[in-house]
Amino acid sequence: MTHPYIFVSTSIPYVNGPPHVGFAWELVIADVLARYHRASGRPVRFITGTDDNSLKNVRAAEAEGTPTAAFVRARGERFASLCRALELSNDDFVRTAFDPRHTPAVRAIWRACDAAGDIYPSTYRGAYCVGCEQFYAPHELADGRCPEHDAPLELVEETNHFFRLSRHREHLAQLLASGQLRIRPDAYAGESLGWLRTGLSDFSISRSRERARGWGVPVPGDDTQIVYVWFDALVNYVSALAHGSDSSEVGPVWRDAGRRIHVIGKNVTRFHCVYWPAILESAGLPAPSDVVVHGFLTVEGRKIGKSLGNGVDPFQLVERFGAERLRHYLLRAFPLGSDGDFSLDALLHTSNDELADQLGNLLSRLLVLLEQNTGAQVPALPAGGGVLEAQARSCTEQARQALEAGDVYAALGSVFAFVRAQNLELARVEPWRLARRARGSDDVALRADLEARVATCLGEAARALLWTAALLEPFLPESAARIARALGADAPRVYATSGLDWSQLGAGARVCRGALLFERIAA
Ligand SMILES: [Zn+2]
Repeated sequence: MTHPYIFVSTSIPYVNGPPHVGFAWELVIADVLARYHRASGRPVRFITGTDDNSLKNVRAAEAEGTPTAAFVRARGERFASLCRALELSNDDFVRTAFDPRHTPAVRAIWRACDAAGDIYPSTYRGAYCVGCEQFYAPHELADGRCPEHDAPLELVEETNHFFRLSRHREHLAQLLASGQLRIRPDAYAGESLGWLRTGLSDFSISRSRERARGWGVPVPGDDTQIVYVWFDALVNYVSALAHGSDSSEVGPVWRDAGRRIHVIGKNVTRFHCVYWPAILESAGLPAPSDVVVHGFLTVEGRKIGKSLGNGVDPFQLVERFGAERLRHYLLRAFPLGSDGDFSLDALLHTSNDELADQLGNLLSRLLVLLEQNTGAQVPALPAGGGVLEAQARSCTEQARQALEAGDVYAALGSVFAFVRAQNLELARVEPWRLARRARGSDDVALRADLEARVATCLGEAARALLWTAALLEPFLPESAARIARALGADAPRVYATSGLDWSQLGAGARVCRGALLFERIAA
């Protein structure tokens, strides 16, 4: 493989409720990573989709009196349109009930695990939460109720097919110890190691057809059972890369990927960091290379949850503020792995401060100064840039390192530190004052000197901002394109190329003042 590509995914949500802002956050994090790797010159496959085969979906459809397939199809469409609303660059969207690649892939992976001796029948009795689609051990319950949903559980007893997870303990420990599987932030790697230390119980990977209401993927060779929705859902990562229904073709693209990056919420780490790598090993496929974990959002101090009904609607947020302001707030306000509280006040404040006052204002001031002093052209510069070139390069290095580790929050923080530095540099040099002095001076030599200093300052500033557009592209693609257009030049490939010649960037380009990049918005 000459160009091993980078695989990036989000988790896939149940469609029983509308998409909420917490899931929008996950989509945007994954999109930044996908765009960053593309900008670095690597081929990328970025997928998302919907988890259609959950019992939750069946029950929600029943409650509404709609046939399950029609319900799931219509609800899933909302998630697909959310990708468009958020400017996502996903290459694929897997809907597990309707994608013709998915069911054959699930059955192929099942057969491979079975052939490896990892599937056996057993009877299980336990407390099951339909909201979580998982069994809970007695010690995990909160007053006999689901710890996630604060809801009563169902006592379920049936004979199912089980996956021999216990057999994969050594392999999982080795994946984590060797760094072949990197879980970020580190605290979540510690959590997975903890599960390995306390032992791994085999888990049920099927349901009776009756309890699943006949919805889902039938178990190969046992039509009385439906594949457990988590086993089914995890396979979506591979099924998007399947070439056809022939089981021998499942997964070649997954296998050859240079990196396999999952972006997930902290509530599903066990499935992605333990169950999934074990299933993959059993099926003869490589583990994910990176699992990037985000925390939970509350909204104005209250827990979000589709089940709890107070999720903030991302479509309304995009309509009111635009996708770029929402992306900026989600990426800028909440450190990777931590929980955060989403608030409209904070969104307004962050957006007005950084997008309008810092970034937008920098661009409009610079365009005006170029019009007034250099005939609306980016001035030529001698080789050997000043302080902004050094800052641009070190900021790029910081952003690159953070993004390689999946830390979109740290990366965007360093980009906006650079934006602030550019504003400070303009305020320090005060090219408008130098220009005024030049215009008022009769001394030809002094005047030439002052004009040269103005041109140098504006030339440096224009290059720094063009560089910023390139740094911002993964985060705010629309704004990045508008900045480059205003400066009349293509944004340089700062993530892909380290030896860019600063003095050549945008030299001689004609700038063009259009609408404000970001206006301040009122509460
Ligand atoms: Zn639950």
